[in-house]
Amino acid sequence: MVEWRVPLFDPDITADDEAAVLRPLRDKWLTMGEATREFESAFAEHVNVKHAFAVSSCTAALHLSVLALDLEPGDEVLVPSLTFCGCANVIRAAGATPVFVDIASKNDWTLSPDDLKAKLTPRSKAFMAVHYAGFACQTDALMSIAESHGMALIEDCAHALFTRVSSRACGTNGAAGCFSFFTNKNMSTGEGGMFVTNDDELAEKVRLLRSHGMSTLTLDRHQGRAVSYDVLRTGLNYRIDEMRARLGLSQLKRLEANLEKRRAVYRAYLERLNGIEGFTIPFSGRKIDEVGIHIFPVALDSGINRAAFIQAMKERGIQTSIHYPAVHLFSAYADFREAACPLTEDIASREVTLPFYPHMSAADLNTVIEALRESLRIAGE
Ligand SMILES: *Cc1c(COP(=O)(O)O)cnc(C)c1O
Repeated sequence: MVEWRVPLFDPDITADDEAAVLRPLRDKWLTMGEATREFESAFAEHVNVKHAFAVSSCTAALHLSVLALDLEPGDEVLVPSLTFCGCANVIRAAGATPVFVDIASKNDWTLSPDDLKAKLTPRSKAFMAVHYAGFACQTDALMSIAESHGMALIEDCAHALFTRVSSRACGTNGAAGCFSFFTNKNMSTGEGGMFVTNDDELAEKVRLLRSHGMSTLTLDRHQGRAVSYDVLRTGLNYRIDEMRARLGLSQLKRLEANLEKRRAVYRAYLERLNGIEGFTIPFSGRKIDEVGIHIFPVALDSGINRAAFIQAMKERGIQTSIHYPAVHLFSAYADFREAACPLTEDIASREVTLPFYPHMSAADLNTVIEALRESLRIAGE
């Protein structure tokens, strides 16, 4: 393993988290029990939503969202190309067709409402919006498109734990909100996710789909509330376990404090990068008081060689990443290569993500900035 001087992310795991994980092991009830219920209701309270289902990943939550919409082959789901591949993968896994939509601008890397409208067809059934880096999409515009065209809005909130717009949490604007607790996310259970909705009907479908479509749970049978079950829909196993639910509850307690730290690190970055040339920072001009910032992305100027920059940073012990390669240019999406997403293709070719985590120190920041200055010079030659 490479010893990074400054890693891309560094999970915040405490002694409380360790103790939390041990509890279900000692109680010997390992899946879908009290911890899961507590986690779901605490999470629902935090985002102020009616229903929350803890699941095995955000990808599972996204898959459940499209499955619960009862799509048919040929139905189209619009999705950004500047996102994690899981968004488009689940659309295809559900038998529908992804339609790739561009980002709004070189500063706003979220779904373009104009391009979304331009790509609607009579087969459009739903669309996904990703709150990139934690910055909210153009929510009002997207909600009104969803409403006027009778389409479901699925919010991918993997980066947006918790972003609020006028005190309203991302994930509660459309039909469904999907969150991730993967290792590098704003809170982590290793693998894990949450599906949220205010729609009672969608909630009932997801409840079934998450657990094989079965009418009763193992816990109900264990507690003597039920002896048998029926299978009401063809479902999957997308459940979380009690160890992860306890870890999630423990992490949730520190989340708001961690988000405050993330915002402080973000502000320090902006201040320290001010005046350095060779790149731009997206979402400039946005207020960040209610943004649950997840990553620190920049777009290198076109005169900077990205591969050389990343290599120079690596040689200085700084880990970077790319969010994201354009999904419509992946091999598995060869049929979609002609999707018109020029802004996405441009940004995807120049984006680099810098190290970012809540407990990043001033010394860590200095190390990154110094390496960045040198790497820009080397990669610009
Ligand atoms: C991480 C991520 C996902 C997938 O989350 P998992 O919990 O790993 O399945 C989906 N969308 C976005 C934007 C992500 O960053």
